[in-house]
Amino acid sequence: MAKYAAPGQPDSVVTYRDRYDHFIGGEYVPPAKGQYFANPTPVTGEDFTEIARGTAEDVEHALDAAHGAARAWGRTSVADRANVLNKIADRIEANLEMLAVAETWDNGKAVRETLAADLPLAVDHFRYFAGALRAQEGGISQIDEDLVAYHLHEPLGVVAQIIPWNFPILMAVWKLAPALAAGNAVVLKPAEQTPASIHVLMELIADLIPPGVLNVVNGFGVEAGKPLASSRRVAKVAFTGETTTGRLIMQYASENIIPVTLELGGKSPNVFFSDVAAQRDAFYDKALEGFTMFALNQGEVCTCPSRALIQSDIYDSFMGDAVERTKAIKQGHPLDTETMMGAQASNDQLEKILSYIDIGKQEGARVLTGGERADLGGELSGGYYVTPTIFEGDNKMRIFQEEIFGPVVSVTRFADYDDAMKTANDTLYGLGAGVWSRDGSVAYRAGRDIQAGRVWVNNYHAYPAHAAFGGYKQSGIGRENHRMMLDHYQQTKNLLVSYSPNAL
Ligand code: NAD
Repeated sequence: MAKYAAPGQPDSVVTYRDRYDHFIGGEYVPPAKGQYFANPTPVTGEDFTEIARGTAEDVEHALDAAHGAARAWGRTSVADRANVLNKIADRIEANLEMLAVAETWDNGKAVRETLAADLPLAVDHFRYFAGALRAQEGGISQIDEDLVAYHLHEPLGVVAQIIPWNFPILMAVWKLAPALAAGNAVVLKPAEQTPASIHVLMELIADLIPPGVLNVVNGFGVEAGKPLASSRRVAKVAFTGETTTGRLIMQYASENIIPVTLELGGKSPNVFFSDVAAQRDAFYDKALEGFTMFALNQGEVCTCPSRALIQSDIYDSFMGDAVERTKAIKQGHPLDTETMMGAQASNDQLEKILSYIDIGKQEGARVLTGGERADLGGELSGGYYVTPTIFEGDNKMRIFQEEIFGPVVSVTRFADYDDAMKTANDTLYGLGAGVWSRDGSVAYRAGRDIQAGRVWVNNYHAYPAHAAFGGYKQSGIGRENHRMMLDHYQQTKNLLVSYSPNAL
């Protein structure tokens, strides 16, 4: 049993079990093949628990449980389902500090963020979908005097959900809340890098959910994810992860003719127009803060503003201030509430980021700050830390075109509005973007002209539950958040009823 806590936060003690099995049918079930894998913390690089290594047999077992529970769950009243979601939200909120530490220890991100963002957003997400469900209505059309069309919402049945490692709890909650609200049973597969905090959450809420309605199968992509995503027994696959994996998920689902929603990668532009620097005031300060958002969550965010486009006439002064601001990002122990940037989520990810830093240097990009692994000393020496890095270069370079998924921003300049839009849209991706201008007309036009599913105007990295989120182009299909998600987890039943007493 490993125990962790954030210093000065007495309610934050988390106790991890030595081993986590699959959560199936409301109980913990060992893996069919009896195998486990070690789960290291990115904070120090040490293993702290072990996890069941799932295979197709475990997936089948979880699907049995889900199918056994789906019909009854789908028929509960909306008020009852909404109550369950609200109780889950209350339980998370009552244990927020403990879950924040659990998430930090598993993923490496700073506890300051898990306390302020990941967990509060998870709470709000359950509450939002409890409310959205209560407010959902069907439709009726009178086709003629005697014929009426009823349009009713029905759950899909059993759905598969596969999630990544960058926001383990929040990515699970983004998918679970609407799916459960809509009346589906779920089999969820966490990422193999960060399965443990989700189990701390599951243990906390298990008694609130009927057995079999929510099942978690651990394991690796091909061994556990593929049998789940390609099963004939799921009615939908919801996936968040890399674009290359998303392509495979679509192929599997196409065999069974089922819908997929895909939340994939990004290379989001953050565009700063000249008027941002018209005065050195609170707005200018906010824009600089918006620039540094590339380092939020160690850059492991699908919408990371990993390309910054600065108008030429303010470039030198703006970048001077932006570099200073970036250097002030405090790295340190992720459980220290003063720390602003923690560890990368895995050793593989650390190596990927360092290799892209090398690629940037070889391509001739100039390092304005950072550009190396950070050795934070002591027990953190074995952890996975990178200094926040700013590259200056050209949008054709690989570091401007390929997703690095680390605290690395590639910066370039633009001459005018058209030039900015051309560069912003010169990417395979279309997930997020930022636009900064004091001129409402410029900001609005740019927001409309950039081909991305979410454009932040004069802010960045806000994720309210009721704002639709998802990708254009190769960043995905479908949306998350917003009540429209209920539609993604339901199908329409049309009853066409004749009230005519006469024969046809
Ligand atoms: P990944 O694609 O490697 O893995 C994601 C999940 O898919 C994991 O659970 C993994 O085990 C599973 N998986 C891998 N291969 C599989 C297969 N063949 N069949 C079924 N499942 C399989 O992605 P990752 O490295 O964990 O996550 C980082 C990526 O996620 C980045 O590209 C990031 O942009 C993206 N992301 C997107 C969003 C969004 O909302 N658009 C949000 C967060 C992360």
